[in-house]
Amino acid sequence: MAPRDPYDVLGVSKTANDAELKKAYRKLARELHPDRNPNDPTAEERFKDVQAAYDILSDNEKRQAYDRYGASGPGGGFGPGGGGRYENVDLGDLSDILGSFGSFFGRGGRAARPQPERGADFESRVRISFEDALAGVQVRVPIEVQTACHVCGGSGAEPGTAPRTCPDCQGSGVISDSQGLFALSHPCQRCRGNGVIVDKPCKNCRGAGRERVTRRYQVKVPPGAKDGTRIRLKGKGEAGRNGGPPGDLFVRVEVEPSTLYERRGADLVLDVPVTFPEAALGATVQIPTPGGPVALKVPSGSESGKLLRVKGRGAPKLNGGGNGDLLARLRVTVPEKLSKGEREALEAYQRSSREQPRAHLNGTAA
Ligand SMILES: [Zn+2]
Ligand SMILES: [Zn+2]
Repeated sequence: MAPRDPYDVLGVSKTANDAELKKAYRKLARELHPDRNPNDPTAEERFKDVQAAYDILSDNEKRQAYDRYGASGPGGGFGPGGGGRYENVDLGDLSDILGSFGSFFGRGGRAARPQPERGADFESRVRISFEDALAGVQVRVPIEVQTACHVCGGSGAEPGTAPRTCPDCQGSGVISDSQGLFALSHPCQRCRGNGVIVDKPCKNCRGAGRERVTRRYQVKVPPGAKDGTRIRLKGKGEAGRNGGPPGDLFVRVEVEPSTLYERRGADLVLDVPVTFPEAALGATVQIPTPGGPVALKVPSGSESGKLLRVKGRGAPKLNGGGNGDLLARLRVTVPEKLSKGEREALEAYQRSSREQPRAHLNGTAA
């Protein structure tokens, strides 16, 4: 089939100006639009011809090429034919008369249907005690989320009524003004870009279609959680849009500090007061650990600040693999009061140690 003359298709003269072209085109597009002629293949065929013809004549370069070379064009063909060419049609220019143009042609331009969009992630915080962080704990996390209104199902319209297609933008949400080759568009003011108008808004959501609800999730904080540990609950974030997947919920764990232990990863540091004789002579002292008290052997000659490692008595490791260690930090204490016997014993010790050199202070003493 030979391609039809685009001037014939639109019913305009060879000298028609832009305004005349556009007027003829709009009239035909309205008449032949598939929405107005359902199940009429002839109308659909003609509609495509009109699109193709306008595609050529509204583009100065294509029009000049057509005028010079005719229907066969300089290197290929004009006229209706390949389905792909319709993607070149300036959809922004059409959207005011062709409400469902985007859905009719599928992907095709600015009026294409909305893309699936993943919902946003949420973050929440829970504060737990140091002991709970070591042992693991179940907590309830309340999250305020936006969901489709349970009364109107998200339409925003009072139950029993339905939103109607916006007559200004024909449901596209966009108003376009064509100026030469460029189509300028702006959101439709009447429907605020929604494409639909709600005459009787739902009382529950005041027409928004969404409402805030509080959801509570049971969250398992694993044994050994640290301050700042994030727990991910897949799919518990904001709902996706247009069929997109939901976001995730991240629960950030805040751990209260302990009065006893200082945390170093999976290791715990515990200050252990020892007397001077215990440090000097060695001793066995009872110390607390998260798993219960243990006997700590203090070797003779231990200095204040010495760290003694008790294997496997620290915090559980988050990725499994047992526990960290407990690090006992010795603090040699000085008694405030002495009995007579203690004083005599210390004075005897002082006399015997006075003559010992203090090598590291040599040269700095006055
Ligand atoms: Zn509602
Ligand atoms: Zn509108």
